[in-house]
Amino acid sequence: MISENSGEDPRLRQLVDGIVRLAAGDLSTRMTPSENRDDIDAVIAGVNLLAEELEHIYSDLEQRVADRTAMLRRTQAELEQMAKTDALTGLANRILLNERIQEALQNSTASGKAPAVLVLDLDSFKAINDTLGHGAGDAVLVEVATRLLSAVRATDTVARLGGDEFAVVITESTQNEILQIAHRASEKLQDSLRIGSETVWAMASIGVCISAPGDSAESLMRDADIAMYQAKGQGRNNVQLFHPDMLLAVQERSRITAELRNAVSGGELALQYQPVVELASGRVTGLEALLRWHHPARGLIMPDSFIRIAEESGLILELGRWVLHEGVAQLRRWNETAPNLTDFCLHINLSAAELFRSDLLADIRETLDRNHVAPQRLVLEITETVLMSRGTTEEQVLGGLRDLGVGLQIDDFGTGYSSISYLRSLPADTVKVDQSLIQDIGSDPQQQKFVAAILQLISAAGLKAIVEGIETAEQAEQLQAMGCLYGQGYYYGRPQPPEQVLDRLESLAQRRYS
Ligand code: C2E
Ligand code: MG
Ligand code: MG
Repeated sequence: MISENSGEDPRLRQLVDGIVRLAAGDLSTRMTPSENRDDIDAVIAGVNLLAEELEHIYSDLEQRVADRTAMLRRTQAELEQMAKTDALTGLANRILLNERIQEALQNSTASGKAPAVLVLDLDSFKAINDTLGHGAGDAVLVEVATRLLSAVRATDTVARLGGDEFAVVITESTQNEILQIAHRASEKLQDSLRIGSETVWAMASIGVCISAPGDSAESLMRDADIAMYQAKGQGRNNVQLFHPDMLLAVQERSRITAELRNAVSGGELALQYQPVVELASGRVTGLEALLRWHHPARGLIMPDSFIRIAEESGLILELGRWVLHEGVAQLRRWNETAPNLTDFCLHINLSAAELFRSDLLADIRETLDRNHVAPQRLVLEITETVLMSRGTTEEQVLGGLRDLGVGLQIDDFGTGYSSISYLRSLPADTVKVDQSLIQDIGSDPQQQKFVAAILQLISAAGLKAIVEGIETAEQAEQLQAMGCLYGQGYYYGRPQPPEQVLDRLESLAQRRYS
């Protein structure tokens, strides 16, 4: 019980002050009970206990809030990390790469050193994906990531841009150091890798751009990309350092692309025909249609200057369609003007992309029908590299072409990576041995043996061989002595406009039929 004169009891004042402090949040407040051990002391003890309890609850709460906050921070960091890394390889992605390039540019001092960017594109990744499946493709990408990380320094960042494209940001370094890193990356990718029981290669074309004052992350990436395309153009599997001239080449390419677009409709394209002959008799067994572009301002442009551009821009489908229609129509015109000359085939070159043209089979069938040309008189030349890396779509199209009855020929044989076992499974009936292989057979006995072996190999695979690029009588004799039956080259005739070809065919026919 509180005594009558409690108003004067100083403990009550202390009690009220204590409660006010507690209510204001000072949970460490405690009051000291007196010796009286009376009711007021009991209330004081009770309030102290309550304060104790509150303090516990409060610090527990504080701890829990701190824990949750830390967890939230971690999750946020993880999310940020996820948004900036590539899920498959764990490398930086495009976003992080961009940040790192910007950081590198900001931190660069004018010390004769500069940050740089490498852009890498694998050279034959599509083939790996197509032949071994996407699981194998993923395993290759992960291994490439590991090798790239082992080629750079801790301060550099390796990123995957998507697909089979990677990039590296190199922090401030000398040109020498930068090129060393690029070549080290290239070397690390030279070694084969094992995927299950298969051995594959994942070599890359690498473009390097060293920043110059005023460069942005964007311009660095663009120029490294241009250099990478240059590396592809130089035969892949190499390193190219960006040079402003390359930008001019890109602009020139896009101008050619624009002009090529009008070339078909503007009637600027033409075909020339080069004979394929039976070496022993000189009889023409085929005519290869070779595309020419008569540019109104620049004159005659050869296919090596525009076929690749057409392939890159997709224009090749339109060009290919034109070549097929024009070539087969020409065959019909020859049939009509010289009905006794029907024992030769028309050879047409097909680019890889054309095998993906959805209407290819139908177009070939209709074009042949329309011109009353038998499918057996058409031979499609497809390069070795295309046939090597064929996937299911190509396989189906090639099967369809065979069913149609047209001939299939491997072009430029010996320039790709055909293995012996591969030759047997190729869906073709003739093989055209590339001209580079016979260039030196006159002077190099070793090369002679090599070509002889290749010819034997082709024949052992049940295929017919044609050798292209025969320029001299000596080469022709040597090849004949090796058992080669068919050939093509300037020695037998250069590519010519259709009228001139017919004269040659007719004079041959007259000789044979008279
Ligand atoms: P290709 O199919 O391997 O054609 C052979 C090339 O070698 C032709 O060059 C031909 O003129 C040339 N040639 C023939 N005999 C000799 C010789 O004795 N010595 C030398 N040094 N060269 C010889 P061209 O006409 O410049 O064609 C180059 C390439 O362009 C062709 O190589 C082919 O891959 C491509 N091409 C040509 N026309 C077409 C086409 O209509 N479509 C596609 N997709 N590609 C084509
Ligand atoms: Mg050809
Ligand atoms: Mg060829």
